[in-house]
Amino acid sequence: MNHYDAIIIGAGGAGMFCAATAGKRGRSVLILDHSKKLGAKILISGGGRCNFTNLEATHQNYVSENPHFCKSAFARYSPWDFLELINKHGIAYHEKKLGQQFCDGSAQQIVNLLKSECDEAKVKIQLDCQVYKVSRIEESATTRFEVSSSKGSFTCESIVVATGGLSIPKIGATGFGYTIAKQFGLKIIPTRAALDGFTLSQADARDFGDLSGLAVDTMTSVNGMNFRENILFTHAGLSGPATLQASLHWNPGDEVHFNLAPETDALEWFLAKKKSGSKSLVKNLLGELIPSRLADRFLEVYFPPDSPMNTMPLTQVPDQPIKDLCAKVNDWIIIPAGTVGYNKAEVTRGGVDTDELSSKTMESKKVPGLYFVGEVVDVTGWLGGYNFQWAWASGNACGSSL
Ligand SMILES: Cc1cc2nc3c(=O)[nH]c(=O)nc-3n(C[C@H](O)[C@H](O)[C@H](O)COP(=O)(O)OP(=O)(O)OC[C@H]3O[C@@H](n4cnc5c(N)ncnc54)[C@H](O)[C@@H]3O)c2cc1C
Repeated sequence: MNHYDAIIIGAGGAGMFCAATAGKRGRSVLILDHSKKLGAKILISGGGRCNFTNLEATHQNYVSENPHFCKSAFARYSPWDFLELINKHGIAYHEKKLGQQFCDGSAQQIVNLLKSECDEAKVKIQLDCQVYKVSRIEESATTRFEVSSSKGSFTCESIVVATGGLSIPKIGATGFGYTIAKQFGLKIIPTRAALDGFTLSQADARDFGDLSGLAVDTMTSVNGMNFRENILFTHAGLSGPATLQASLHWNPGDEVHFNLAPETDALEWFLAKKKSGSKSLVKNLLGELIPSRLADRFLEVYFPPDSPMNTMPLTQVPDQPIKDLCAKVNDWIIIPAGTVGYNKAEVTRGGVDTDELSSKTMESKKVPGLYFVGEVVDVTGWLGGYNFQWAWASGNACGSSL
């Protein structure tokens, strides 16, 4: 049989979830994916344990030109609904922090769950299939699209684009979803790598690049968003959870602020030490507030070798340079050169403009029968299980209406 009620392009989380939902409602569904492996991105997610949802997820955890768009899908499929499915499949899980749910075992269990839901719903999955072309045909109400592929031609009433974003091309990410959207005249919000951390300017890379491997507890802030988590110095720049989060909210040229001693007012602390007659060198004291490798580097980079900051006991150091140093400790400002890019990014920001889609069904307002779900849509979650929750909820919204 080459005709289906729905053909879904992309066998990732959103595509498989959508397929199972539609299949259980009696729809005949075919999924096509060019990858040889099912759910490749799920397998590498959450450090191999898949952070499959976040119990605190609301529309406020997503970046989109229209942050209200995802509300309807979340109202009909919540993180608790996915937990119920996890329990149905007997998958052991745990909360790591801040509502983030991970498999105790491995991400393979989530792929197995999705595959088994698809099997139960009699969904056909065709891997290793190059999709060449999607065309619209107007023969009848039940045959609206033709898909030509390396495994032959198929027709369907509805076509669902679930091809994800551009992140991690080496495991099969492509811009095919955006190409189809453009082909049918849908607007795209410009895409950008996100949840990928920052690259440093030449000067900052020279000064701090060799601190690679150093983790620092921070309050990281960008454009009014604050993240109380670690940053990690790398060869290329800055990584770690706080920096990944910040990269989602950053635009080129924006400052990123790091409070490197988030529990301490550094100036008050230093002045109290000075008043109590501390004869220690500033760098040794600073090493009590921030990691000593970073403390040494701050003193080298921001003060000349013969500065009292580098040579005198604290009691003999004037207050002004102490103030200058403490301002940097509590508010170190970086203007990144850029973000790390699609090869490392967990997600792609931007995508199919939500104005083009029904928030109830994910169907194109212009082209009946054409749907977009998951990361290809301009809805991008923070780090912490939010992106999979969008994949499930948008897949459910679409699958329930096919
Ligand atoms: C390293 C990493 C870790 C992550 N960890 C987490 C996490 O723990 N929690 C979380 O919530 N999110 C995480 N994410 C994000 C999350 O994986 C994605 O947001 C989610 O997988 C998107 O689902 P999707 O189904 O929309 O797209 P995808 O999972 O990307 O699936 C798209 C599918 O479409 C196929 N495809 C693409 N182009 C074509 C084409 N031209 N023809 C045919 N098929 C095509 C691909 O092969 C793929 O199978 C992580 C991402 C990465 C990269």
